[in-house]
Amino acid sequence: MISEEEARRRILEKITPLPERSIPLAVALDCFAARDYFARLPLPAFDNSAMDGYAVVASSCQKGVRLRVIGDQPAGPDRKLRVARGEAVRIFTGAPLPQGTDAIVMQEDVTRDGTEISLNVDVEPGDFVRRRGCDLAEGQMILARGERIRPATVALLASQGFADVIVGGKPTAAVISTGDELVKPGEELQPGQIYDSNSELLAALLQRCGVNATAVEHCRDDRESLGDAIKRGIKNHVLIISGGVSVGEHDLVKEALRKLGAKLEIWRVAVKPGKPFLFGNIGESFVFGLPGNPVSTFVTFLQFVRPTILRMMGATNLDLPQVPAKLAAGLTNDGDRPHYIRGKLEHGKFTPVGRQESHALFGLSQATALLRVAVGQSFKADEIVDVQIWD
Ligand code: AMP
Ligand code: MG
Repeated sequence: MISEEEARRRILEKITPLPERSIPLAVALDCFAARDYFARLPLPAFDNSAMDGYAVVASSCQKGVRLRVIGDQPAGPDRKLRVARGEAVRIFTGAPLPQGTDAIVMQEDVTRDGTEISLNVDVEPGDFVRRRGCDLAEGQMILARGERIRPATVALLASQGFADVIVGGKPTAAVISTGDELVKPGEELQPGQIYDSNSELLAALLQRCGVNATAVEHCRDDRESLGDAIKRGIKNHVLIISGGVSVGEHDLVKEALRKLGAKLEIWRVAVKPGKPFLFGNIGESFVFGLPGNPVSTFVTFLQFVRPTILRMMGATNLDLPQVPAKLAAGLTNDGDRPHYIRGKLEHGKFTPVGRQESHALFGLSQATALLRVAVGQSFKADEIVDVQIWD
């Protein structure tokens, strides 16, 4: 049995990023930039008004002064109005500042009388003016290679006039859930049978990584169907098999993989839950065998499959986000494997939830964070620890 760190290292050293591609911004969410991107334009791109009001020459303004309104400047093309002392231009939010003006007076702070306004406030240069480049300078880096494209990143790229973005590739992934006891949700259960929940779990976890499973199929614990399912699955960059990787007579995955010429790199990792984890490849396809207990499937996906997929997609940071949290209760790991404790993270406090056993799906469903407790490690209540989050 190898350590979790060793397993992760051995997996990741085999994985190379897929070829990059240019895609429209509309589908770029959760992809990873394959280039550094720099601002083509400053933001704002020109001096403009932060308010609906009047553009004025600040040095000719103070409370009580009357100004002549010489025109309108809405947001849109610059009407090239020129403003002198004693004059004002009616202006709207986002409109370019007319020549000669250096401040905006809010419409709430003037009294309008025909073509004249009188000021009810004093005015300072720069009032309610958004200066060109105050948010972002031309040439500044806006997105680093390997960074994830988030909703605001898409907006920022759009603000720079990019219609497309060059991103890392997207792996294809297939899921096979194995087990004679499994029934598809919606169908009728016989005594001894259970619904297949790992198929849904794995498809959802893949989606969280930005990948839609190309195929999700259930397979009985028999050599022939397993072999056929694996042959179909390995047409993908990644094949995830749930269940059947342990040591029982019905755990046939390893044997089926070997028969198809798989190179099995890892079997059994010192991690709780998830010990029977298996990793290898058949040709170009990387195959993960995740233990069937739902929490084991979940933990091993996050610790081993997720970083693999992210590396294929060109991500720089492969780790789950970590946040500090105050522990609600003391914890000790007396076992011989690092233990991932499922808990709820609320207002900076981590509270273990549910039965900490690998079959306990309800507890997992209530959890929003994982705490890794190393072998022999002990935490006291109220201690600050780093927990991993995934949503
Ligand atoms: P296995 O890894 O095949 O030995 O399965 C370990 C445990 O996980 C058993 O209790 C299985 O019934 C359960 N299990 C396996 N596959 C699934 C699945 N797809 N959905 C829910 N439970 C599963
Ligand atoms: Mg099984």
